[in-house]
Amino acid sequence: MNCRGGIFVAMQCWPEAIRLHVMDKSEKPKLKEHDGMVCRYCGNEERASEGYPCSDCGTFICLICTFRGITRCKACEEKAKTAKA
Ligand SMILES: [Zn+2]
Ligand SMILES: [Zn+2]
Repeated sequence: MNCRGGIFVAMQCWPEAIRLHVMDKSEKPKLKEHDGMVCRYCGNEERASEGYPCSDCGTFICLICTFRGITRCKACEEKAKTAKA
């Protein structure tokens, strides 16, 4: 068998053990990453690196809420509302 003909040939030339090991690794369901944070507006857990801080207290707000125009967490939003009223 020719083992120097590109990625597909290389896959076929791999010993079965290595192939199974790689597949097992890639198929492991790892849903939660350790940088996940709970959005203080909608309560969803999102990646901290993809969110923005509340403009008042700096707590985490997810990207989805930011896209919807949310700049403050729920607590600060309530506070801002009562302060205005
Ligand atoms: Zn959110
Ligand atoms: Zn806040």
